Amino acid sequence: MSNIVAIVGRPNVGKSTLFNRLLERREAIVDSEAGVTRDRHYGKSDWNGVDFTVIDTGGYDIGTEDVFEIEIRKQVALAVEEATSIIFMVNVDEGLVETDEEIFHLLRKSNKPIYLVINKVDTNKEELAATEFYQLGVDSYFTLSSASGSGTGELLDQVVKDFPTTEYKDPFEGLPKITIAGRPNVGKSTMTNALLDDERNIVTDIAGTTRDSIQTLYNKFGHEFVLVDTAGMRRKAKVKEDLEFYSVMRAIRSIEYSDVVIIMVDATQGWESQDMNIFGLAQKNRKGIVILINKWDLVEDKTTNMMRDFEEKIKDRIGQFTDIPILFVSALTKQRILKAVEVAMEVYEDRKKRIKTSKLNEVMLPIFERTPPPANKGKYIKIKYCVQLPTPSPQFVFFCNLPQYVKEAYKRFTENQLRKEFGFTGVPIEIYFRQK
Ligand code: GDP
Ligand code: GDP
Repeated sequence: MSNIVAIVGRPNVGKSTLFNRLLERREAIVDSEAGVTRDRHYGKSDWNGVDFTVIDTGGYDIGTEDVFEIEIRKQVALAVEEATSIIFMVNVDEGLVETDEEIFHLLRKSNKPIYLVINKVDTNKEELAATEFYQLGVDSYFTLSSASGSGTGELLDQVVKDFPTTEYKDPFEGLPKITIAGRPNVGKSTMTNALLDDERNIVTDIAGTTRDSIQTLYNKFGHEFVLVDTAGMRRKAKVKEDLEFYSVMRAIRSIEYSDVVIIMVDATQGWESQDMNIFGLAQKNRKGIVILINKWDLVEDKTTNMMRDFEEKIKDRIGQFTDIPILFVSALTKQRILKAVEVAMEVYEDRKKRIKTSKLNEVMLPIFERTPPPANKGKYIKIKYCVQLPTPSPQFVFFCNLPQYVKEAYKRFTENQLRKEFGFTGVPIEIYFRQK
């Protein structure tokens, strides 16, 4: 788990400008092979080769004065709890205001490193004005122009240098990690409890996250895996009061940390845009995916047609990658929940699967001979060789003479052939065509 840098401050000081700058830098550099998680307020960046996560804590609309105070307090609490380092941003335009002092006071109670960053210092003139912030009682601060990016380097040098050096040792190294994701009330907690029963569980915190982040070892019926729960499902009462943002962020972190994501849907409600978001996150992060249609006990018409309709509706919505197991379960009556575990483990194994280069070429090259990519501008494309990369999720490189002429449709064809021949159900596959 990477270090987390939270940006805290009043509205309009420039938090999201800095946030976007930090993320864009990375998105411009990182190619499609690394996978990116990105949310409006949560993303990855790096500086001098050190990766970190950035949270923009101030993303939510703030209404009246009262709400404002409450929101600021929550923001600060969030930053203090989740972050490794805190960038406290103020704005030279408006100068030091009372709310800045209040926030700074709250932040200082934590023992996390806090960086006072004075933004909108676009010219030398503002450098002088910035000295006003010494009134906060600091020895030093950073001045920044988020808009142009000047000053970012000095700030990040320091932030990264101060990161704790102790490496996190995963107590469950090598075991499958599974997370159950889904909208509120779809039955995630019920499912978790049904699986874990009164088994004796080993529970640990994930480093750098709150005490609510727990991993539970499941070892029953011949399966051993770790249920990752950063959404705090087993301690629900507390989570209820949290910001929506908080739970979204935790869900993202659970997904990042897992190998397989079980997306739970309520059979009485169907597949909605929030489910789509979770699906998108899991897919972008190249995690294995299983969809569970829960509360199937409440559905009266349980015919095969009904199930097929449900499946088709989901598949219509999720786009190209439809080779995903969909199971109809009831967490309450425990119907088919062990089947769900079994399928999740199959997806886990498929995601790890490596196809030998000789086998891959033996199977794929004749397919390409029979159905070559359509010629482009009179030029023929010849695929000569392929390999699977040694990555955590399946990625394949196809070497050919004219990779730039291989169209999307042919990539899709290739993916479908790979799935048909080697079976990667529930597993996102990446395909690259490269020059040889
Ligand atoms: P947030 O509410 O703290 O996230 O603030 P925003 O990032 O949305 O910025 C608020 C406004 O300040 C926007 O109009 C930005 O364009 C502007 N802004 C942000 N950073 C700078 C800066 O370094 N210099 C100047 N002049 N304007 C900035
Ligand atoms: P979560 O917010 O996703 O963790 O959802 P919960 O596990 O708290 O479940 C929300 C409500 O749905 C509770 O009242 C559960 O008893 C109920 N529920 C969960 N699973 C099922 C199910 O399979 N069938 C029925 N009928 N109710 C369920």
